[in-house]
Amino acid sequence: MNIDPTKLAPLQGLLKKPHVNSTCIWCSACVYVTDEAYFKLNDDGLSCVQKQENYNESMVDDAIASCPVNAISWQACDAEGNYTNGVTEHKDIV
Ligand code: SF4
Repeated sequence: MNIDPTKLAPLQGLLKKPHVNSTCIWCSACVYVTDEAYFKLNDDGLSCVQKQENYNESMVDDAIASCPVNAISWQACDAEGNYTNGVTEHKDIV
């Protein structure tokens, strides 16, 4: 996807996507709360965020509220959907 960077400038700091850290206990609540659209359980026992063009904020907020170990949070991302600020999936965010 080629996007004129000058058009993205106003969005800096506004783009975000859900993130799951390593405290996930594989309970699957986030998967079902979001109708399997945004989270998928992997073989390592962790929920993985699925890449989407847009995330329904209300559904993700419901997933955040349903997580028993507070493993889900919103994190900044770029226009390609990659986390910024050195954040990686399943890394604990302080
Ligand atoms: S709700 Fe939380 S603990 Fe359960 S699978 Fe999702 S991220 Fe992991």
